[in-house]
Amino acid sequence: MDIEALDRFSRDVLPEFASDLGGLVQIPSISGDPVHSEDVRKCAEALLGFLNRTGADHRLIETEGHPAVFGSLTVDEKKPTILVYNHYDVQPPGEGKWELEPFSGKLKDGAVHGRGATDDKGPLLATIETVDYLNGIEELNVNLRFIFEGEEESGSPNFSNALKQSGIGANDIDGILLCDTVWMNGRPTITYSLRGLVYAEMTYRSAKAPVHSGLVGGAVKNPLTVLSNAIAACDKAYRNNPSGDFLDEDVAEPTEEELQALDNLNFDAERFLRDTGITRPTTLNSLTMLKRLWMQPTIEAHGFIGGYTGPASSTVIPDSATAKISMRLVPNQDPNKAAKTLSDNIKKVDEDIEIKFTKSIPPFKTRTDHPYMKAAHSAAEQGFGIIPAYVGCGGSIGAVPAFLEYFGQRPIVMLAMSTERDSYHGPNEKFELQQAAGGIRTVGRFLDNVGKMGRTVA
Ligand SMILES: [Zn+2]
Repeated sequence: MDIEALDRFSRDVLPEFASDLGGLVQIPSISGDPVHSEDVRKCAEALLGFLNRTGADHRLIETEGHPAVFGSLTVDEKKPTILVYNHYDVQPPGEGKWELEPFSGKLKDGAVHGRGATDDKGPLLATIETVDYLNGIEELNVNLRFIFEGEEESGSPNFSNALKQSGIGANDIDGILLCDTVWMNGRPTITYSLRGLVYAEMTYRSAKAPVHSGLVGGAVKNPLTVLSNAIAACDKAYRNNPSGDFLDEDVAEPTEEELQALDNLNFDAERFLRDTGITRPTTLNSLTMLKRLWMQPTIEAHGFIGGYTGPASSTVIPDSATAKISMRLVPNQDPNKAAKTLSDNIKKVDEDIEIKFTKSIPPFKTRTDHPYMKAAHSAAEQGFGIIPAYVGCGGSIGAVPAFLEYFGQRPIVMLAMSTERDSYHGPNEKFELQQAAGGIRTVGRFLDNVGKMGRTVA
């Protein structure tokens, strides 16, 4: 591949890229708001146009929710096939104050501004531009399948189904490229682990209607107290130890090598606290904090429903209350087993607490020494001119467990184009054109690298 030509293209294409991305950002494809259903579809259709330009076959995959966009480009059956994943739906603008309109799509100070610019329309378009360029000069060295999800920000409820409908065979794919993560400490990142999730709602009922503490207080179990005790008991069951760490026999202890790698990241806890607005951290030690973010599970309460919240000093005892709780899981925890343990701890407090599990996502971890991970590392180092970091992630990406279920063990390369400056999910979201250029240089090199490796699946 002519690397110099690719690098030249990555700069020359930027004016066109800015205008194309601006157009996509102007479509408020908010998957979580039914008012914007038509906008989500409009954005999906716009993406068909971009896929068409690359020469890929393309269609929408209809689901019970928003459609997924599918594309297929085969250059040579003997070459590896990479599945490119991005999502085109976006978060709502949110509460914060925007300097420009949230869906302006305007180019200002070298960046395209607006909701979705960096998460995930910018990286999506940078990948399409790369493929368009490489295929146009007949230097595309791999086959590609594209799947652009329209419900990532809504928890990916239909993604497994969309994947099945895509018609991709389980053995057709050699690896997956996913660009929907963020840089760290000014360095490109390649993510090797994600935490899983177990989400539950617990409800306690103790009377047929709200009652009065002056009349029955002392004779009735208070649902708010019972649920608070259950949360406290779960927290204590896992954390009642001198280190404050989460104890679970299934949690994989980090190896010396992994701890050393964490140390080398120079993670700055104080900067993290400033960026996130945290005022009461569980630790000030940078290494401990990183370990807790990526390698330790959590148990959290998210909301209470029930009781009186008005201005008066009401002494009503609610007849029922509900609490929303979750656990983030790490390798090698099993969501079913974690849910059972959680349920056991809750039932110990009061066996009449009803528990409904609403979400279950397994944790994910991949080898950093896989050839595809190394290919991504060297591609990003050359593409961005900065040595990338292998990082964990405290969150979950809904598509990843669906990939694992569908394809089994395949390399999933999570390569970040977005920076910490981009305001992911926050006000004033943007995508810098220099990141698009670096992304194009990186993806171009990555595809070329893996193309040279030949097929990895028989
Ligand atoms: Zn995203």
